[in-house]
Amino acid sequence: MIKKVLVANRGEIAIRVMRSCREMGIETVAVYSDVDRKAMHVRYADDAYPIGPAPSSESYLRMDKIIEVAKLSGADAIHPGYGFLSENARFAELCQKEGIIFIGPSPYAINTMGDKITARKTMIAAGVPVVPGTTEPIRDIKKAIEVIKGIGLPVMIKASAGGGGKGMRLVKREEDIVNAVSSARSEAKASFGDDAVYIEKYISSPHHIEFQVLGDQHGNIVHLFERECSVQRRHQKVVEETPSPIMTPEVRMKMGADAVAAARAVDYYGAGTIEFIVDDNLNYYFLEMNTRLQVEHPITERVVGVDLVKQQINIANGLPLEFKQEDLSQNGHAIEVRIYAEDPDNNFMPSPGIIKHITEPLGLGVRHDGYAYVGYEIPMYYDPMISKLIVWGETRKDAIARLKRALYAYKITGVKTSIPYLHRIMEVPAFIEGRYNTHFIEENQQYLQPRAVCTERCMDVAAITAFVDYITKLERLQPDKPQKHLGNNWKDFGRKRSVLRF
Ligand code: ADP
Ligand code: ADP
Ligand code: MG
Repeated sequence: MIKKVLVANRGEIAIRVMRSCREMGIETVAVYSDVDRKAMHVRYADDAYPIGPAPSSESYLRMDKIIEVAKLSGADAIHPGYGFLSENARFAELCQKEGIIFIGPSPYAINTMGDKITARKTMIAAGVPVVPGTTEPIRDIKKAIEVIKGIGLPVMIKASAGGGGKGMRLVKREEDIVNAVSSARSEAKASFGDDAVYIEKYISSPHHIEFQVLGDQHGNIVHLFERECSVQRRHQKVVEETPSPIMTPEVRMKMGADAVAAARAVDYYGAGTIEFIVDDNLNYYFLEMNTRLQVEHPITERVVGVDLVKQQINIANGLPLEFKQEDLSQNGHAIEVRIYAEDPDNNFMPSPGIIKHITEPLGLGVRHDGYAYVGYEIPMYYDPMISKLIVWGETRKDAIARLKRALYAYKITGVKTSIPYLHRIMEVPAFIEGRYNTHFIEENQQYLQPRAVCTERCMDVAAITAFVDYITKLERLQPDKPQKHLGNNWKDFGRKRSVLRF
């Protein structure tokens, strides 16, 4: 049985994994790059080891160093989190070879699903519907043009090794094909070291709906229902919710069964996600499988009542799943928003820097998975996600109200964040009504623009935060006369509030 886990990651996900380990009585080991010396995951773990300079290629992607630390620290297993080495079959294999348990699927499953062309072929063989398109990389551009004419424009040119929304081009006109193929190719080469691209029919006004699956090492596979992830910016998820507002019980059952079939096709064990693209008539097609824990996994945990990291560890221990499909059900509604250190009102420019103040939202039905603290400097080297805010409500309407309440209370100063932008999303009629697809953001620009003035109530909390800070300082200066100064300064404060900036 696993006694000590090295978490080969950083940020919120490293802490999230360690939390479950702690509940299970499992010790944890953190690894960190030079800029992460003071990071929260280092503080949270039982042990922590430096692994190199800030660039991830010299630290979090260094398989040799991570394995060395695992041995040195006596860790018997490695959890890769998401990103970094989580979908690297060579790393999973190396762990196996070194006698360390890789908390994740088999190298074979990672390899097969990591290559979208191979995955498409595998799904077709398993009878799972895939997006119409090709199952070979484009070699000859003339032939590609013929194939595209056969499929019918618009199409997507997609990198076989793609991930994180990279290496993808939408082509609407015949004259754009050549350029789209070459730019998708070069982006794929630069990002993934592999320039294979293929063709998929473009599904218009699509929904991105994915199914969580769990499989053990004894051939049992279940799904934990869907997540709706259609609120996207540049093919990257911004808001996720479960259940999907467009799902019906019949389609859910069919898609769930296909998700299980997809996982079974690669003898899947561990936690994984089958992503589908769904059209307005609820026709669905396999998009890809992510062979790891997903950023948005907490909404499933909340609604289905399963700790996915605990399940991953149990599966890695060789234990059979504790539940069957019929034991699982959805309870209520959960929504997650991703909070980034970026400026939504300045083209989402990354906003690294020192956190000056943070008030985390609390209260009934609120979960906050983050890693930032006052005085912490968000480094510029990694994904600028600061935290995830997850809420639960009995109904979708309750969940939205709760999320708005939590966003209202969530204050971060020092860096710009996407909090105000997320708040605006929650006010868009199409979101409130649950009528949205992946074009949601582009179609609702008018609601998502920066507001000239902060709303009165939003101003109040920020202003009070600053005022409390001011009073605290004042009390430190005048320890024996806080009352008098407090009174006077309220008045001053009232006059000055219009010029306060946050
Ligand atoms: P999710 O579906 O969980 O949101 P994403 O595709 O957004 O998955 O990726 C999750 C994390 O993994 C992000 O931090 C992203 O930057 C990173 N990531 C995804 N694909 C790759 C890849 N091929 N190489 C490196 N990092 C990746
Ligand atoms: P990644 O590996 O980068 O996550 P995906 O294949 O999962 O790439 O696609 C990411 C997003 O791009 C989808 O959620 C969807 O919004 C859009 N997309 C991908 N393929 C298509 C398609 N064939 N038609 C329409 N939209 C697509
Ligand atoms: Mg995807």
